[in-house]
Amino acid sequence: MVADPDALSRREALEAHAAETSACTRCRLAEGRTQVVYGVGDADADLMFVGEAPGFHEDKQGYPFVGSAGQLLDRLLEGIGLSRRDVYIANVLKCRPPGNRDPQPDEIEACEGHLFRQLELIQPKLVATLGNFATKLLSGKPTGITRVHGRPQEALVGGRNVTLYPIYHPAAALYTPAMLKTLEEDFARIPELLAGSSGAVAPAEAQVIQFPALAVAPAQSPDEQLGLF
Ligand code: URA
Repeated sequence: MVADPDALSRREALEAHAAETSACTRCRLAEGRTQVVYGVGDADADLMFVGEAPGFHEDKQGYPFVGSAGQLLDRLLEGIGLSRRDVYIANVLKCRPPGNRDPQPDEIEACEGHLFRQLELIQPKLVATLGNFATKLLSGKPTGITRVHGRPQEALVGGRNVTLYPIYHPAAALYTPAMLKTLEEDFARIPELLAGSSGAVAPAEAQVIQFPALAVAPAQSPDEQLGLF
């Protein structure tokens, strides 16, 4: 495959942005974090997931979605023939809120520029927003996830048109069977939505951002996973 110079330069810019962001002190969460959890996956992915904020395990390991919610996300991805290496995964907040509390409005405001820059550089076609915080931030609308899940909507993000696809947060679905069923149904529509956007999901290849050290976080045993967010 011929390397796409634009994709290569965007990848380099993403790596530089990850390095810069690792020292971020834009909000109080910098004080309590082990490390910034920037994001992981294919820097040129057509499909991007945006969650809420790192939890205990994410803060320790430096990768998003490595706890039990992450295991569910992996399983859902597998169900549509994809893996973490085919997509990009990030959060609204890059640092863990103490005790896994909800993100505060001023923290979201301080951090949103990092997410917008990621979106600008990765240029995904489809952005699956996981739960309320990502959905409200990227849609710019106050409507909650219960009303908008499973309904793709066009949005202008980072100066580009993307399709937002709000779905339930896997952590919420873990404990509510009805929500899990809905999440599975909504997830099953992702391939169709990607095919309808102008690109296909690229197979795992050279475009994986390696930050802080590994492209894909190691799997954890369920008994190591205490926190959800
Ligand atoms: N929940 C999130 O929203 N993000 C993570 O990285 C982990 C759990």
